Amino acid sequence: MLTEKQNKFEQLAKKVCKCQKCALAATRLNVVFGEGSVSASILFIGEAPGATEDASGKPFCGRAGKILDQLLLKVGMSRKDIYIANILKCRPPGNRNPKGEEIDACKQYLDQQIGLIKPKIIGCLGNFSTKWVMEKFGLKNKVQGISKIHGQVFIAPVSQGSIKIVPLYHPAVVVYNANTISALEEDFNMLKNIPR
Ligand code: URA
Ligand code: SF4
Repeated sequence: MLTEKQNKFEQLAKKVCKCQKCALAATRLNVVFGEGSVSASILFIGEAPGATEDASGKPFCGRAGKILDQLLLKVGMSRKDIYIANILKCRPPGNRNPKGEEIDACKQYLDQQIGLIKPKIIGCLGNFSTKWVMEKFGLKNKVQGISKIHGQVFIAPVSQGSIKIVPLYHPAVVVYNANTISALEEDFNMLKNIPR
């Protein structure tokens, strides 16, 4: 039996999988809705699907996903303990940056995912995610580049108490800058130990 929350989530997923609200619908192979436990207390938010995710419909299953899996394993978490979603549900061609109008068209879905999951902690993977999440929770004036604010815990009031927002490097940067892996490991370890 599905819980009411799971039911609502499935209905939302079905709707998003048919979405035509922005131009990315024409070039995507699959919608990447998100994956994990709908009762997770930790939600990770990335940017947008890449080629591997577009082909499979699953978030973080390519090169960046392998790094994410290693980070989770290292701190004793697994995908089953968390939920993972992206700002955009469809791949921007050539992995270009998301456009403002695409984020505007898509953001209602992530808003609804956050509203249903009600996470205690959001781990923002990379600059795009950090900026969007911090603005959503009224922390716009605290936004800085990820190399400045990664690993800090920002607390925002929500109706059920408060939510902790943690900016993190995007796992994909490790491919270009090996120094970031130790920062990511430290930040994941800290995030895992935040009381929730
Ligand atoms: N990068 C992201 O931001 N999200 C994915 O799902 C894969 C790579
Ligand atoms: Fe719809 Fe979002 Fe995909 Fe655009 S990116 S088509 S808004 S699901």
